[in-house]
Amino acid sequence: MNELKVTINDSHIKKIKSGSPLLEKEAIQNIKPLKEEGMLLSLVDTRGNFIGRGYYGRQNKGYGWILTRSEHEAIDSMFFLGRIHQAINHRNSYFESNDTTAFRVFNGEGDGVGGLTIDYYHGYYVMTWYSEGVYRFRDWVIEALQSAPNFKGLYEKKRFNKKGTYVEDDDFVTGDRGEFPLLVLENGIQFAVYLNDGPMVGVFLDQKEVRKKIRDSYAEGKTVLNTFSYTGAFSVAAALGGATKTTSVDLANRSLPKTIEQFSVNGIDYEAHDIVVMDVFKYFNYAKRKDLSFDIVILDPPSFARSKKHTFSAQKDYTSLLQEAIQITEDNGVIVASTNCSTFGMKKFKGFIDQAFKKEGYRYKIEESYSLPPDFKTTKAFPEGNYLKVVFVRKLI
Ligand code: SAH
Repeated sequence: MNELKVTINDSHIKKIKSGSPLLEKEAIQNIKPLKEEGMLLSLVDTRGNFIGRGYYGRQNKGYGWILTRSEHEAIDSMFFLGRIHQAINHRNSYFESNDTTAFRVFNGEGDGVGGLTIDYYHGYYVMTWYSEGVYRFRDWVIEALQSAPNFKGLYEKKRFNKKGTYVEDDDFVTGDRGEFPLLVLENGIQFAVYLNDGPMVGVFLDQKEVRKKIRDSYAEGKTVLNTFSYTGAFSVAAALGGATKTTSVDLANRSLPKTIEQFSVNGIDYEAHDIVVMDVFKYFNYAKRKDLSFDIVILDPPSFARSKKHTFSAQKDYTSLLQEAIQITEDNGVIVASTNCSTFGMKKFKGFIDQAFKKEGYRYKIEESYSLPPDFKTTKAFPEGNYLKVVFVRKLI
C-alpha cells in the first residue's frame, strides 16, 4: 500500500512521542492530502524524522490511529495476525474458563489498533468497526480470526455513520450463522445474545466484575432498583445473589421481553420481580409519591439520552440523577453509580457523588470503585480509553 507522509505539528510531538495512539486533527500540519479513509500514513516531525506509522480514519475522537512506532514494521496481513494473536494470548484465562464464555478479545488502541474491537460469544466473534478507514483492513482481520480459538462464525457491526452510529445491515460475515438466542456464560450467569439484531447484542461485557460483585457481596436479602436497565443484566445478577426483589426500569419497550428472557434463561421466576417500562425520571416521582425505597439503587445511564420530556447528559446531570436516587435509597443502603462517559474521569465523577450527598444532607462512604475489566485492555498513554467508572456508595445516616 502507498503511504502518505504526514508532518506532525511541534505542539503535538511530545504527546505522540510519549505513546498516545490517537492522531488528532490538530496534530496534522496539512490535512488536505488526506483523501481516502484507510490511507496509510507515515508520520514525521517538522525535521523529517520518522515517528510512527498509522492510518487515516475519521471518528468523533480524531483523524486516525498510530499502529506502529517501528520504521521497519509494515502494516499488512502479518501485522494484523500478530496483533490479534497477541490479544488472544492475553485473554487465555478467559478462553480456558468454564464459567465465562463471553468477553472482549480485542480492545482497540489498548491492543494496538484504534478503531476496532472484537468480542467473543461462545465460538462466535463480533468485529466492530468505528471508521471507514479501519474497515479497509477488514480482509486481513477476517483472515487472522479464522485461526482464532474455537472459531465457529463471524459477525460485524459497522459504527461509522456520520454520527458514529450503527449502519443497518446483515451483520453476518463468514462461518456458521449460529442460532439465536445464543446462550453465553459470564461468571456462571447466563445471557441470551443476538448477534444479528442491530447494534447491541443484549449484554454489555464491560460490566462483568460489577455484576459479579453485586451478586456475590451485596444482593443477599436486599431490594434492588435497577435504572436504565436495558435487558436487566444487573437485576439478574442481583436475583441470583439472593435479592428479595428487583425492579428494572427502562423506557424502551423491548426491555420488557428482553428482561423476561434473561431472567428465564437463568431459571428465575420473572413474575416475582418488577419490570417497568417507564422514563426513569418519571419513576423517581412515582416512587417518592408511593413512599418506595430500596436497599440498592443501580444507576447506569447512557452518556447522553433524549426522551420525550427530558434530555440527560452525564456530564451535566449526573449529580441531580444521584440526588433522585439518594432520596429513595434506604439508610445504610448502597447506590451503584456507573457511567461510560469518556469526557470526564474518576476524580470528577467522585466529585458529582460528593456534591449530590452534600446537597441532600447525607454522609456517605465509598465502598469500592471499578473501571474496565482486564479483557477491555487499555493503554496508559490513552487514559480516555478507560471510560468506565463504577462507584459503590453507601448512604450513611
Ligand atoms: N444498565 C444496562 C445498560 C444500560 S444502556 C445493562 O447493564 O445492560 C442504557 C439504557 O437506558 C437503554 O436501554 C435505554 O433504553 C435506557 N434509557 C435511556 N434514557 C432513559 C430514560 N430517560 N428512562 C429510562 N430508560 C432510559
